[in-house]
Amino acid sequence: MKIVIMKFGGTSVADLEKIQNVSKIVSDSVRDFKIVVVLSAMAGATNELQKLIDKVNFTSLPEQDLVITSGEQVTVGLLSMILNKQGIKSIPLLGWQVPIITDSNHEKAKILNINNSKILNCFEDHDVVVLAGFQGVSKEGMVTSLGRGGSDTTAVAIAASLNAERCDIYTDVEGVYSTDPNIDKSAKKIDKISYEEMLEMSSMGAKVLQTRSVELAMKNNLTLQVLSSLTTKPGTLIVNEKKLIEKEVVSGVTYSKNESKITISGVPDKPGISAIIFGILAKKNINVDMIVQNISQDGVSANLTFTVQSRDTDVSKDELEKNIAKIKYKHISTDTDVTKISVVGMGMMSQTGVAEKMFKTLASEKINILAISTSEIKISVLIGKKFTEQAVKALHSVYKLN
Ligand code: ASP
Ligand code: MG
Repeated sequence: MKIVIMKFGGTSVADLEKIQNVSKIVSDSVRDFKIVVVLSAMAGATNELQKLIDKVNFTSLPEQDLVITSGEQVTVGLLSMILNKQGIKSIPLLGWQVPIITDSNHEKAKILNINNSKILNCFEDHDVVVLAGFQGVSKEGMVTSLGRGGSDTTAVAIAASLNAERCDIYTDVEGVYSTDPNIDKSAKKIDKISYEEMLEMSSMGAKVLQTRSVELAMKNNLTLQVLSSLTTKPGTLIVNEKKLIEKEVVSGVTYSKNESKITISGVPDKPGISAIIFGILAKKNINVDMIVQNISQDGVSANLTFTVQSRDTDVSKDELEKNIAKIKYKHISTDTDVTKISVVGMGMMSQTGVAEKMFKTLASEKINILAISTSEIKISVLIGKKFTEQAVKALHSVYKLN
């Protein structure tokens, strides 16, 4: 029995007409395969549910997860109904019915185990299982959610568990682009990209796939395809690095406006201070990304600059101010008017001069670099927010991605 997984995001099931369109895509494959269709809620529905939860303003995570995962129940029921109406034997399933067992970390639960015998039994007298994405059930029997964007992870986990032939992630764009087409119209669709590159791109703002789903695909060596439900063109394949014949030096330029910069000046220049500062932030679960410390002029004090997610700016500042006596710094300031720009590519591992080209290009655009960080396949710089478009365009063109 050959099984394929087709996952459709919120924009692909945004209304009845779009769901009809999904039923057409599914029916085209039904002759050759058994199909698990994984669905998101209608576009915007999950946000509306979140607003209701926020209005009640009382933290009770099991109820919150029950509410926020309910949008998927609607789309799953509707698609299965439409498929059956067309004579395609379909059955709808929610996460707990499979069951998709997760830990009890509500709002960001991890999948522990999928019992796939229920799905296999369904395939004895059905051709399609329409499964709710984004949801599971804890060992305590409570409904859990996998974190926003989590239906991608449902699709990948099901594909791995059923050893599927393909896992196609349908969305409203034709694939993964070399940069944001809204900023640079010359952005081109990438045909093939490695898991590693995709991880760097998706954790940095290219929001086509939930980061966790890419990690899971990589762990299981499962090829993913991101493609549009509105065209019939092939999309972007996300594959094992070994399947890339030619490794691009730079595959993409991405940006994130969700960063902010914190500068602490007059920090004592002695061992253990950084450990105290970042320990304070870690205790509050704040992720620090770029870190720059300047060389102290007088051997007594130094300045420390680092970035956090914008939403963590105020908490970070508050916590560090509370601890001023312990750290003994002079001044702290924050700046949310910054953007992180990154260039990503597997070929960087073996090619030199990529960073130099990036810095030279920004210099010739007269854009000041506030902080730098690198990994084996990525270089990121922090710049003023107003230069975002200019920098993205210049870099996209200098690495010949257009
Ligand atoms: N509906 C959920 C969300 O909006 C899950 C998903 O779309 O992947 O986050
Ligand atoms: Mg999504």
